[in-house]
Amino acid sequence: MSMTISRIHDDRGAQANAGLGPDGRVLPEADAEPLRCRGCGASPRWVDPARTETLRRYAVPHSARPDVHAVWRDTTVTRCDSCADRRELAAELLAEHPRVARGLGPVGLDQLDAALAALDAIGLRPRKVVGSLVVSDEEVRELLAVLRDPGAAVLWSESLTSKGGGRWAHVEREDRAAAKAACRQLVHLNVETPAPCAPPSRDGALTACLLCGVGALRVKRHEAESVWGALRRVQPGTLGGALRPEPVAGFLCPECRVAVEHEGAPGMGAVRRALLWSLGRVKESGGRWHVKLGSNIRAWAAVPGAEPNSTPWGHLDLASLRVSLADLERRGVVRPLRPGESR
Ligand SMILES: [Zn+2]
Ligand SMILES: [Zn+2]
Repeated sequence: MSMTISRIHDDRGAQANAGLGPDGRVLPEADAEPLRCRGCGASPRWVDPARTETLRRYAVPHSARPDVHAVWRDTTVTRCDSCADRRELAAELLAEHPRVARGLGPVGLDQLDAALAALDAIGLRPRKVVGSLVVSDEEVRELLAVLRDPGAAVLWSESLTSKGGGRWAHVEREDRAAAKAACRQLVHLNVETPAPCAPPSRDGALTACLLCGVGALRVKRHEAESVWGALRRVQPGTLGGALRPEPVAGFLCPECRVAVEHEGAPGMGAVRRALLWSLGRVKESGGRWHVKLGSNIRAWAAVPGAEPNSTPWGHLDLASLRVSLADLERRGVVRPLRPGESR
């Protein structure tokens, strides 16, 4: 169905020419422009009414007209099939990365759609680029950080200009150049080879993850700064070790950070949870958190003078732990993680 606003015939000539209908309503403008896609600015041949909405833009009141408090202009816009698919891709990405989605809140979909528009506007296929470059939560955040602003700048809804007509034909040369530069930066970040990265050595921090004791994480160079998170202080006495007069300082790997977030604090609950995860198990839902994994279970930071582990939890006797896990599984206290299950 074409949504082009058509000329309205009215034989009460003068009134219609003044733009007023018989009941005094403002008539749609004659010879109105066809609807345009709010993303790429093209006018789709077929318009889906479900994708059509009205944007209201406010203008700054003019000092010469103090009686006018607000001036606005309503523009009805739609979304073409390609832009609707791009938004769908943004929604899929958020569903696949719930932690990123939670961090972004309700503006996440618009922001991610804008970031993907930067790819679209320079002729790349967002689905193809995302499929090969964006896998981890960190990579989704990276895509947003690099492409969100240049992507927002190319959206037709930002300018509502009368220029152009085809997809992205309205985009100014410098905005296109900025989108291109950002896409190059994104590709560059992605081709870096991951390398082992130890926790930052500052403020007397211990040399491995405070809980699992892993001494290095394989990440890209530009992620080395953020992958270990913030410096924390923990009391070894609450992590299965002896109470010390002073807490110890150090960092947590991403997996152990999530376990601490779940439990609310870096204590034995977080130790058990992170350890079970690394062994591919979760606590049975509804079960009490009294998983007796063995008396020697403790965080790495609770073992005085321990060397960093080459694999997580290397300071524990994992062989005997696996035996007790099998027993706990039989009793329905823990169960294996399902493929793709969010922790
Ligand atoms: Zn479009
Ligand atoms: Zn860890």
